[in-house]
Amino acid sequence: MDFCMSSDSSISIRVSDELRVLDTKLREAGLARSRGPAARQSNRTPRFAPASPEELDRLRPESAEPAIASNGVQWLAASGWKRLGWLWHGFSTRRGGLSRAYRQDGAQGELNLGFTSEDDRDTVIANRRRLAEAITGCADTPLVTVRQIHSKLVVRAGRQAAAAKPARADGLMTDEPGILLAVMTADCIPVLVVDRKCKAVAAFHAGWRGTVQRIVESGIGRMQLEFGSRPEDLTAAIGPGIGTCCYSVGDEVLAEFESQFEYGRGLFVEVDETDPVRRRYPTMFLNQRAPGHGPKETRLHVNLVEANRRQLLAAGLQPRSIRIVPGCTGCRADLFFSHRASGGRAGRMMSVIGIGPER
Ligand SMILES: [Zn+2]
Repeated sequence: MDFCMSSDSSISIRVSDELRVLDTKLREAGLARSRGPAARQSNRTPRFAPASPEELDRLRPESAEPAIASNGVQWLAASGWKRLGWLWHGFSTRRGGLSRAYRQDGAQGELNLGFTSEDDRDTVIANRRRLAEAITGCADTPLVTVRQIHSKLVVRAGRQAAAAKPARADGLMTDEPGILLAVMTADCIPVLVVDRKCKAVAAFHAGWRGTVQRIVESGIGRMQLEFGSRPEDLTAAIGPGIGTCCYSVGDEVLAEFESQFEYGRGLFVEVDETDPVRRRYPTMFLNQRAPGHGPKETRLHVNLVEANRRQLLAAGLQPRSIRIVPGCTGCRADLFFSHRASGGRAGRMMSVIGIGPER
């Protein structure tokens, strides 16, 4: 189901056709004056950068084409990162696995990497081995995961952690070669960080709660403490997650961001979800309800990618050292698992990073 990309844009084309017909009829009836400045005046001042659903199309990130490994796993790389010969990294998609639990009609087996209640445990283990093989060339490469709790907790991981029970945390870091650090997402934002000089790596899971708690900013602080990392030697990649286009949130999310970040308000847009005819001809509907007494017609959408980019900048990274691997999980249900787009029944993707042998 590709609900944002294809069906929405076809609806907006249809609506604009219908609006054109309506415009013509109103002009013929001498009513076109109702579209003057007075008619367009809103009964409330917008608090944020306003956007109509059609305008949100512009905010929709175009996903890159995934690489296809020889075992069929499809994954996304950060641009330029393949130049670091010793670095293993990748953002998985839902394609190229063995899971049947979330299969869309006609789809092949899928790459669910989380031990969810819907999927079979052995299948997930096999999928994880496939991902390790695709990224490192060896299915046996140990994978270190955490039990994610939407916190700002970051753990330093080593080889023994791969065999142990996952720690409760939302970030991992290591300077030990030969292991893959992994965070799991299905809408949240994954962030990978590399220290090119010290040869250390980190992976963070940032949903809105972790973002408000500054997991990325404080996680980089931990890298400085643990490895002596200097911000100018760090490179980061922000992976695919839910985009501004699809991420509508409640006022409590705004309140949290506003209380934590001076730039917090700028991360939000206010989306006018009024139907297009009503938006274009507000005076035709004024007799139905007094201004300000209608149903709430706008929703806030938040940009979590930008929020995490701001934290990387605050931690001292240069803008040119931050890669964004584009893709909205909500828009591209064919390519990504999305908690929101699937009504809560979703598999998990993994973002992995590690230190491999020098090539
Ligand atoms: Zn979207």
